[in-house]
Amino acid sequence: MTTSVTLIRGDGIGPEISDATLRILAAAGAQLEFDEQIAGLAAVEREKDPLPPHTIESIERTRVALKGPLATPKGEGYRSVNVALRQHFDLYANVRPVRTLAGVPSRYTGVDLVVVRENTEDIYAGIEHYVGPGRMAAESIAVITRHGSERIVRWALEYARREQRKRVTLVHKANILKYSNGLFLDVGREVAKQFPDVAFDDAIVDACAMQLVKDPTKLDVIVTTNLFGDILSDLCAGLVGGLGVAPGANLGKDAAIFEAVHGTAPDIAGKGIANPTAMVLAAATLCDHVGQRDVAQRVRSAVYDALASDGERTRDLGGTADTATFTAAVCRRIAHP
Ligand code: NAD
Repeated sequence: MTTSVTLIRGDGIGPEISDATLRILAAAGAQLEFDEQIAGLAAVEREKDPLPPHTIESIERTRVALKGPLATPKGEGYRSVNVALRQHFDLYANVRPVRTLAGVPSRYTGVDLVVVRENTEDIYAGIEHYVGPGRMAAESIAVITRHGSERIVRWALEYARREQRKRVTLVHKANILKYSNGLFLDVGREVAKQFPDVAFDDAIVDACAMQLVKDPTKLDVIVTTNLFGDILSDLCAGLVGGLGVAPGANLGKDAAIFEAVHGTAPDIAGKGIANPTAMVLAAATLCDHVGQRDVAQRVRSAVYDALASDGERTRDLGGTADTATFTAAVCRRIAHP
């Protein structure tokens, strides 16, 4: 059965890696029908609205989206479309698996961890203002709720149980942020008591960052607040070869958006050299999500094989291939596994 999926190609390298992803999905026989929509800079240019109502309506209808990166100018006056999408659809779980991949140069071997980031609260709640005359000070308010903490920690524990992971580590800064992070930690410990079969502990974010850099194989599933999850997941991507290979999923009760962890990479946009791996692996997770597990498996195997082969890796991974060469190599491996 064909599944309808909203497609947002995105800004910068978005259109290039989206084209590569669609080609690979087609080669793997994905039964997906794409409803193409726009957001971000492309939508500002065409419709003067970074998140047009028809894009929202499409995701409300399909409940599944594949999204390229969207540009958000720094500073005032422009709210992140990514944050707006996550909040609108209440996509509270941002899930970013991090694995060492054969052939991809990285500092460590044997890394296999998952960062589960709370995606709707914390300092990203969008409550910011200036204080006093002449912008004397600025305040950004971190909101952490019992409800938000409860459901993200529960999600991580259920995931760990389902996927037979070894341990869930709740990462926080409760020693300093006693109220907001203290609540997150207290609620997390309460929820963990309902999962006696899943090992659970906690770590302070700075110590966890050091542990990740010293020996990332010591961690398994990390569940953390929005800001720490944002930072730690990029750090983790760096441990296994960089942003080019890091996929992500934004999951809620009523919708799911799959995307790469990286941004629009303006420095290489339009040059045809972007690595599409992260978006392709995100699309494979989308296929799992809509029940097309065999397609997901075909895509992953072909990507892993191509990455392991000299001459087929893109430049961010120390190779010489461009986007088209890598994409063709993955498609060839799907046709001849
Ligand atoms: P970035 O992830 O776009 O780029 C960081 C570095 O990684 C750059 O050197 C880039 O060339 C490289 N890189 C990233 N993806 C790559 C790929 N697939 N292949 C090869 N190299 C790759 O981060 P940035 O420069 O801080 O952000 C640029 C824009 O992207 C900003 O407007 C930011 O807001 C936006 N952004 C969007 C998302 C999203 O849509 N989910 C995520 C992060 C950043």
